[in-house]
Amino acid sequence: MKDIRNYCLKEHNTFKIDVLADRFISFDDSSEFIQFAQGNNALFNNKFLITGEGSNLLFTKDFNGTIIHPETKAIGVVRESSDYIYIKAEAGINWDDFVADTISRGGFGLENLSLIPGTVGASVVQNIGAYGAEAADFVDSVDYFCLSDFKVKTISKNDCDFAYRNSIFKNELKGKAIVLSVVYRLSKNAVCNTSYADIQNYFKAGEELNPSKIRKAVIDIRENKLPDHKKIGNAGSFFKNPIIEKQQFVELIKKCPDLRYYELPDDRYKLAAGWMIDQCNLKGYEHKGAAIHENQALVLINKSGKTTGDEVSELAEIVHAKVFQKYGVELEPEVIIL
Ligand SMILES: Cc1cc2nc3c(=O)[nH]c(=O)nc-3n(C[C@H](O)[C@H](O)[C@H](O)COP(=O)(O)OP(=O)(O)OC[C@H]3O[C@@H](n4cnc5c(N)ncnc54)[C@H](O)[C@@H]3O)c2cc1C
Repeated sequence: MKDIRNYCLKEHNTFKIDVLADRFISFDDSSEFIQFAQGNNALFNNKFLITGEGSNLLFTKDFNGTIIHPETKAIGVVRESSDYIYIKAEAGINWDDFVADTISRGGFGLENLSLIPGTVGASVVQNIGAYGAEAADFVDSVDYFCLSDFKVKTISKNDCDFAYRNSIFKNELKGKAIVLSVVYRLSKNAVCNTSYADIQNYFKAGEELNPSKIRKAVIDIRENKLPDHKKIGNAGSFFKNPIIEKQQFVELIKKCPDLRYYELPDDRYKLAAGWMIDQCNLKGYEHKGAAIHENQALVLINKSGKTTGDEVSELAEIVHAKVFQKYGVELEPEVIIL
């Protein structure tokens, strides 16, 4: 375990914002951390934040509190049935390393989620999703350290309240749970999910597919589309795709017949936020050290390498205002602004 004061967070957020945390506690052994936390529970009465790789965070100022940072890396098969393999992974494992590991063990399903930055712990907090799949489709259960009674608890998938980029850990259990590990239930039979047009278009018609090929396709597509956060600071999609009610949709489509949207099963409509930002001619737009990526309007970047969280946040407000002015639709950040 490490316990450091006045710790620089620049390497702990993918926007590469240069801020300090009052205190930074990292651990690679859950039992050791649990013992420490049980003996120091007053720590959690003050401001604290659990971080993975900081790939969904925007720090606008120094963090005047304690960062709790799991670096636990154990992984193993916990049980198997004729159809499924159950793999348990600790919170600190890099998500994409985990995906690669599951495929090599013959557990399939996560290949569409390849190359999403971040950790296994955050995968369930965020209910990460991409290319027609989301974490919730495969979660079996989550072990977390409960900060109300300082005990380890297990919550099953059905109780996690998973929704679009959302879970119980962002609501009822926000600030009350440190995810320690996740059990993913993966299929032993390879069923390739090619529901997304980008994936369909990647392959030749009639080509025989397998999960490794899907993984490679997703990696290639993502590498072509998204800026590499290791080279240029960003946190992926800055805004969520907004969901609107049918009445608003009917009005909007009259005014904008070329609107990009997906119809949801509950009579609501999900709009493509990136397309709307692009229609406001904002691709490449710069604000101080921050900018909108030239090819991906949904991605805000640390263009100068020295931008501040405030500058990125101001840019987000400009985007919000322009989209609202043109479409009457409110964009909501997917990134957590601190
Ligand atoms: C280039 C790029 C592309 C991206 N593409 C996608 C994408 O396709 N789909 C997608 O869904 N997301 C995407 N993201 C967003 C990001 O990868 C996910 O949100 C990811 O799950 C964040 O993981 P993290 O470990 O970095 O979490 P952090 O950003 O550190 O934290 C995110 C949240 O989870 C909480 N948290 C983290 N770990 C724990 C824990 N162990 N216990 C309790 N709470 C915890 C934090 O407190 C915070 O609220 C992208 C990001 C980038 C930079």
